Amino acid sequence: MKNIITLLLLFFIIHVSCISQQKFNNYFEDASLRIDFMLTGNSESQAAYLLNLKKEPYWGGPKKNLIDKFGYGEYRLNVFDVSSGEKIYTYGFCTLFEEWRTTTEAKERSKAFYQTVTCPYPRNSIRIEIKARNHDGSYSVLYETKISPSSLEINRDKPINAKVTKLVDNGPSNKNVDIAFIAEGYTEEEQDKFIEDIKRLTGYLFSFPPYDKLKDKFNIWAIGAISEQSGCDDPGKGIWVNTAVNSSFNTFGIDRYLESYDVRSIRDYAANAPYDQIYVLVNTKKYGGGGIYNHFSLTSADNIYSKQVFIHEFGHAFAGLGDEYYTSDVAYNDYFNKKIEPWQPNLTTLVDFDSKWKDMLAKDTPVPTPPTDTFKVGVYEGAGYSAKGIYRPAINCRMKTNEAKGFCPVCQKAITDMVLFLSDE
Ligand SMILES: [Zn+2]
Repeated sequence: MKNIITLLLLFFIIHVSCISQQKFNNYFEDASLRIDFMLTGNSESQAAYLLNLKKEPYWGGPKKNLIDKFGYGEYRLNVFDVSSGEKIYTYGFCTLFEEWRTTTEAKERSKAFYQTVTCPYPRNSIRIEIKARNHDGSYSVLYETKISPSSLEINRDKPINAKVTKLVDNGPSNKNVDIAFIAEGYTEEEQDKFIEDIKRLTGYLFSFPPYDKLKDKFNIWAIGAISEQSGCDDPGKGIWVNTAVNSSFNTFGIDRYLESYDVRSIRDYAANAPYDQIYVLVNTKKYGGGGIYNHFSLTSADNIYSKQVFIHEFGHAFAGLGDEYYTSDVAYNDYFNKKIEPWQPNLTTLVDFDSKWKDMLAKDTPVPTPPTDTFKVGVYEGAGYSAKGIYRPAINCRMKTNEAKGFCPVCQKAITDMVLFLSDE
């Protein structure tokens, strides 16, 4: 009898999985539609304008989990099938533009930032909606349009030429998290170093909980973009070099903040592989990095803290984790609205703590929790660039300092949940 029940259960699981896969095949091809748009505005308002549409050869995301269950990010792409009206794909993401909007400069002038988002390539006409969060956490539609998959305005050029190496292969892209590493500031002669740098940094990533237990759910791709010169721009030191994706230190006037505004080149290179995440590895010794949720991460390859920065930035870009620190200089003013619950899984304002890690607290843990070592998981004041009113789950965590032993239990859970979601589990 037990065997029959097990068999029936197995049949049911296979059946549901087939239906989900069938749904993907009904609506999508195994390729990507890239939507390039411009985000414009200032601290007061923003707008989005469509730039280009492109068909890219691979789809690296899940095929069963097409509707995002996390609700992370300041922006959201919703895709609807035009004939049935059904919502067939959703995706949350953040942008460098939204960070810039909280800087002092954004109070004084307006700017435009290049942005892209992808979805699986549709078989039939779709309607897309790009939404952005307001200060109160609600969403407003920034842009919407219909797209026909046969439209001649969709560019079908091949991706930009670069050598692609699959360094870790655990199987199909929809069953794995695919990280596409892009070489930045590596000349033709330095391409072997690029491969060795990826191996060193991912080796460190996979030695850390929870990645150590999940490493057979990752594929690692190396995209050998060739730079004319080595290194990257460092405006504070008067260093300007010609590199593949135009990365630079001193973003928003913060020396260690390593970013690239050249989103278009990054995506052009990334299109050479199926990917869930893009990691731009920058060939420099200087300390720095940046990571934006479902946008991309950057880190310098050769600093003594590169390993730590590497997984910290990936925490932002991959799992939507917020910064648990509050004493370092940042360019943002009032980044978090303390009157609402932030969407980051490891931060709370206690406005809606039930939706966060309350179920992970040991019995009798005081909220807020005094800063002692008594509790493994607590609610400690000081996080998200603010000493008051924002709380973190642990005394220390990789999302707080480079000295932390690893990720706190709440960050580990958020990372695990994301790995499983993107692996179609
Ligand atoms: Zn944490």
